[in-house]
Amino acid sequence: MSQTQSIATYDDNNIFAKMLDGDIPYHKVYEDDKTLAFMDIMPQAKGHVLVIPKQKAVDLADLEPEYASAILMTAKKVMAAQRQVFAREGIVQMQLNGSEAGQTVFHYHIHLIPSSIHELGRHAVTQADNAELAKLAQQLAGKIIE
Ligand code: AMP
Repeated sequence: MSQTQSIATYDDNNIFAKMLDGDIPYHKVYEDDKTLAFMDIMPQAKGHVLVIPKQKAVDLADLEPEYASAILMTAKKVMAAQRQVFAREGIVQMQLNGSEAGQTVFHYHIHLIPSSIHELGRHAVTQADNAELAKLAQQLAGKIIE
């Protein structure tokens, strides 16, 4: 097994690839030339955001250095916005590699969840209200500092 590449092959039709192609809607929080941040549709806590690179990476093994650095810089911006909007310090940063770890979408992404690790909701189970997600995305986007 190669240590520098993911085990799975990148699927151009995965749901996040479709978002990047503009084929399916999402609630955008932030975007730049290398990354996109949007609301998780099945949040594990209120304000759960996903950050993805604009690179075809299945998991951490595939992530190129320039995208690794860009995604962390975007994650910092999103986390700062979450801390302001939700007036809390605690933000869980999570990222799953491989189906064995529970990964369900095979385009690399960082989860940023305003929660304690001890209070996390179930992973990708309960769909949130669309209007509520739209409102949260707008609030968070309004607090992003470039
Ligand atoms: P993972 O299991 O780490 O691959 O996480 C995938 C995440 O994507 C889960 O938290 C899902 O709730 C989330 N998700 C799946 N489909 C969508 C979608 N259409 N829009 C936003 N988030 C999604």
